Amino acid sequence: MENKAVVISERIAIGISACCMGSPVRYNAKGFDLLKGLGREKSDFKWCPVCPECMAGLGVPRDPIHLSGGDGAMVWSGEAEVKNRRGARVTEDVKDGADDCMRALKRAGAVAFVYMDGSPTCGVYRTTMKDLKRGNPPGIFGALLLDNGFFLIPAADIQSPIKWWDWRRRLLAFYWLTNLQMENKDQLYSAWHKLKFLCQELDEPWAREAGRKLAAMGKETDREFIEGFRKDILDLLRRPSNLRRIKNSLWKNYSYYRKEKGKSVEGINSPEFKRNVTAVAKELLLMERTSFEDELLFGSSPVIYREKRRIKANTGEEEHKGEEVKV
Ligand code: SF4
Repeated sequence: MENKAVVISERIAIGISACCMGSPVRYNAKGFDLLKGLGREKSDFKWCPVCPECMAGLGVPRDPIHLSGGDGAMVWSGEAEVKNRRGARVTEDVKDGADDCMRALKRAGAVAFVYMDGSPTCGVYRTTMKDLKRGNPPGIFGALLLDNGFFLIPAADIQSPIKWWDWRRRLLAFYWLTNLQMENKDQLYSAWHKLKFLCQELDEPWAREAGRKLAAMGKETDREFIEGFRKDILDLLRRPSNLRRIKNSLWKNYSYYRKEKGKSVEGINSPEFKRNVTAVAKELLLMERTSFEDELLFGSSPVIYREKRRIKANTGEEEHKGEEVKV
């Protein structure tokens, strides 16, 4: 079994609350460019900004809206309403706007969405910006995103280099696994081989149990088992890691690299070494790049994105270093 990273060379489509991409579409005609910090990496993805409140026809600037009588899911089931500051009902308009945005995301082929938490529309775990109150989550569009199984990334996390690194590597793995053809035991086993280190980092007891299940499966593996296994990994990949686990996993994978390649990488530090999160994020990117160039799987980040021309520039016309996958 090849011990290299999986390389995706197509840009993944990601939906985003338009106000987080700099569009001045908030009720007060403001917006924030939260993608600015990504620099060149921004162009590794195809961004699809949508604003359900604008698509509702509420205009900019507008009266702020709020949920009344329940959460966003209850708006869809008819048990709650959406009202503006003057008390006027705008429920149907906001539902229509949310539906239109969902259709646009589907046309774009988006599987992930960067949401503005705290909004009664796009929020997922909070629907108010007031202090630390949660409001009535999820919001109206947030409920639709959850229903449609989107890989959901809070916009605020994009500004933290370590949190973004964690979201990005899980998103790439999520996208790859979602689209991977898996029809038999060998294909399932080879997918697990790529993803097991990351799964172990995210939930060690779960990954141990999953490994046991795979080892115990018979020669013939039924479709239900394969799809159930895929779904469990996809659900796990939605869950963020934390700094302690990320640092431990980096060190474990680096030790493996040293053993396999017989050389060190300057700048990779042990979990005990005190440094800030930005320094840790740099080490992770260094290890990702070095492992790719040396053709060894970096288990913390098993699926990576490389533009086609960058693969060719690195490796010559015909070859590439990872195992390129077109999905
Ligand atoms: S949070 Fe959503 S609905 Fe509100 S301005 Fe941003 S994109 Fe529009």
